[in-house]
Amino acid sequence: MKLEIRGLSFRYNSIPALEKVTFEIAGGELLGIIGPNGSGKTTLLRCLNRTLSPLAGAVLVDGHDVAHWSRQELARQMGLVPQNTAITFPFTVLEVVMMGRHPHQGILGVASERDIAIVKESLRQTNTLHLAARPITGLSGGERQRVIIARALAQEPRILLLDEPTSHLDINHQLEVLELVRRLTNERGLVTVMTSHDLNLAARYCDRLLMLEKGQVYALGTPEEVLTPANIRRVYRVEAEICRHPATGTLQVLPLAPIDDAQEGR
Ligand code: ADP
Repeated sequence: MKLEIRGLSFRYNSIPALEKVTFEIAGGELLGIIGPNGSGKTTLLRCLNRTLSPLAGAVLVDGHDVAHWSRQELARQMGLVPQNTAITFPFTVLEVVMMGRHPHQGILGVASERDIAIVKESLRQTNTLHLAARPITGLSGGERQRVIIARALAQEPRILLLDEPTSHLDINHQLEVLELVRRLTNERGLVTVMTSHDLNLAARYCDRLLMLEKGQVYALGTPEEVLTPANIRRVYRVEAEICRHPATGTLQVLPLAPIDDAQEGR
């Protein structure tokens, strides 16, 4: 299983948002997309699942160009956990996760025994089975996020895309969701691509990081390779110290001060 992104460019009207983005990711790998606000993280995820059509370049799954796939085929291969899931109707959790089966069902959308078994397994994996009869509108942020991940899993995707999956969660639920994403990536051999604002969490859970600056790949590699004071200074305009946590051994980014661009003549 391999996802290849080759020379991907995108513009909103005439404004460039992505420029020749190229990278590869294999099954079982968790890639974090980092970069400041407006650097193109969400646009990149949207181009991967073709919510947006790139201006140039290609997205290949095991060598097959996804531009030739139907929406249904795309949904069978890629599950998206969006940043804001605007479900305002009080569907039950079971109904929401069953929606993930639509790409596999015929036009009548009748649930088979297999659909029901997969939905149950998705609920179990995300520890949401006990919430099945509850309306989605009455859940906490952490519960809701796990349900949205369950819906993506019910699609039986080989590629999982997550847009800021922890942004509205408290620290307990941030860890819970990322532990889940990490475990699913390992156990199912998923290709997982996740955008994140939290450099410390990204360093802890991701195998590699891709750092975007103004729509271009500025750095790509292990957290150690990407999260350097020089890269953070250049891309985030912040002086930062990088250390290693004594217990977990993971990298810690300690922002010290913003850089005064006027003084630096930028
Ligand atoms: P990020 O997710 O890193 O914050 P985005 O992908 O949302 O960045 O945005 C990248 C750039 O594209 C930004 O300059 C942003 O203002 C612009 N942009 C995003 N969405 C739109 C849109 N719908 N119309 C026009 N410009 C947009």
